[in-house]
Amino acid sequence: MNANSSARHDAVIVGGGHNGLVAAAYLARAGLRVLVLERLPQVGGAAVSAQAFAGVDARLSRYSYLVSLLPRKVVRDLGLRLDLRRRRISSYTPVVRDGKPTGLLVDASDPGRTRESFRALTGADREWEAWQRFYGTTGRIARRLFPTLTEPLPSRAELRRLVADDAAWEALFERPLGETIERTFADDLVRGVVLTDALIGTFTHAHDPALRQNRCFLYHVIGNGTGDWDVPVGGMGAVTGALAEAARAAGAEIRTGCEVTAIATDGNGDAEVTYRHHDGEETAVGRRVLVNAAPAVLTGLLGEEPGPGPAPEGAQLKVNMVLRRLPRLRDTAVDPRDAFAGTFHIAEGYRQLETAYTEAEAGRIPSAPPSEIYCHTLTDTSILGPEAVRQGFQTLTLFGLHMPARLFADPAAKERALAASLAQLDAVLAEPIADCLATDDAGRPCVEAKTPPDLEREIGLPGGHIFHRDLEFPFAAGSPDGAAARWGVATAHPNVLLCGAGAVRGGGVSGIPGHNAAQAVLEELAG
Ligand SMILES: Cc1cc2nc3c(=O)[nH]c(=O)nc-3n(C[C@H](O)[C@H](O)[C@H](O)COP(=O)(O)OP(=O)(O)OC[C@H]3O[C@@H](n4cnc5c(N)ncnc54)[C@H](O)[C@@H]3O)c2cc1C
Repeated sequence: MNANSSARHDAVIVGGGHNGLVAAAYLARAGLRVLVLERLPQVGGAAVSAQAFAGVDARLSRYSYLVSLLPRKVVRDLGLRLDLRRRRISSYTPVVRDGKPTGLLVDASDPGRTRESFRALTGADREWEAWQRFYGTTGRIARRLFPTLTEPLPSRAELRRLVADDAAWEALFERPLGETIERTFADDLVRGVVLTDALIGTFTHAHDPALRQNRCFLYHVIGNGTGDWDVPVGGMGAVTGALAEAARAAGAEIRTGCEVTAIATDGNGDAEVTYRHHDGEETAVGRRVLVNAAPAVLTGLLGEEPGPGPAPEGAQLKVNMVLRRLPRLRDTAVDPRDAFAGTFHIAEGYRQLETAYTEAEAGRIPSAPPSEIYCHTLTDTSILGPEAVRQGFQTLTLFGLHMPARLFADPAAKERALAASLAQLDAVLAEPIADCLATDDAGRPCVEAKTPPDLEREIGLPGGHIFHRDLEFPFAAGSPDGAAARWGVATAHPNVLLCGAGAVRGGGVSGIPGHNAAQAVLEELAG
């Protein structure tokens, strides 16, 4: 490669998503010369805050919103000033039983209250006891497995030995999760609440023989050894802000508004990165190129043909709302301030999830779209301006499942999907959500929806896939050769590494692939 030494870096990072920033911070702290090139005017990718509604002072976590997988080790290593706040309530799931509105409340800080809720819903303690045993097992696995995510990949056999529980290994790593759920739980609603963690951002079903649901479930229950999903105080932009500050303070150069258009490499020596910005086109040369963009984007940048297999496809509808006040619930036994503080499951019974999947698979918007709702401002009001706080505004996030990109070829489908999702919410409310929405400075209701095609257009996620591609089990597929493969960040080109969600232990706001790519580079360049 014809290197222009003035623009030569130890590492050129393609994309300033939170993972690119983590990689940049680690490498710059180790004294390497690092350049980050970000296509958008701001860094953060899917981990950003934005004022979504004109005249309404609320900085919403526009895409991702809760943090579980960001290791405390990364926070410590990089000296990040972050407040990740535990939610009082884990979840609330409304349902109608015997014609009466009721629900299941899982109160993280009060097991007695949770037990009572299980008993009131199911008539006995059996489901509560099964729940405790099941999550006791996932908790034990989480504590053993999570620390391995920031180490070189274990082999399958090594991980199995570490898990040290053959029945749990079989249930989570070998057999479709639906079998375990059906064996363990009898109640349809309880089964559904467990299954939802297997379906976030993953278009699949309980009995998928490819075990996509198991992989997704695993990443949703192991975060920091607890599986808790915490509220980033200040919103997701605060996470990205802290990372960008750490990277800059360590000496990394971060350039926004710079879209990488090509990567040229013969695998040896330096690689060339061509990018364009408002002034024209430039080339940067790196001893290593770290790609934070999705693997499908990398294929295009290298000028290669996509590999076999389906292209990535996201399957969610993200809806952001600002409310004048929280809505009242049909289930009057629960305070809305409790119900919306945790994950509020809608139409997520086990059979409802199956029906929604079948309908979406057949190309139809689910008749009863399943979704999860959560109110950030019940835990952290710092994302609101003083006037919004004074008026008692609340924010609401709705993450809809089983909304694959293929449903949105017709632009009118977005309105239908939004209307159907809000109708399911309304079905459990004592008043329509529309009556609670704040309005922007033009009098329009504060509600915005993002389909997979929107995510592709706005933040470059191929097919709108929130994890860049389907998640993988956190062990090595074969015998890794070289540092990049051992860290799960290799591509077909020795001097080009993945440092984003598409790496083996990628996906979610974790910084793990950024950390792992940096470790691989440090090993390679030191060796
Ligand atoms: C709607 C939604 C909700 C989610 N909710 C959660 C959640 O609550 N919790 C959670 O843990 N995870 C959640 N996720 C997933 C999580 O946000 C992502 O997996 C994670 O942010 C990926 O981070 P990343 O840095 O690897 O990639 P990205 O955030 O995708 O960043 C990649 C960056 O590369 C840039 N880029 C791409 N191509 C180029 C190019 N050619 N040149 C220069 N720059 C380029 C992009 O602009 C982007 O900034 C959610 C995702 C979405 C979309």
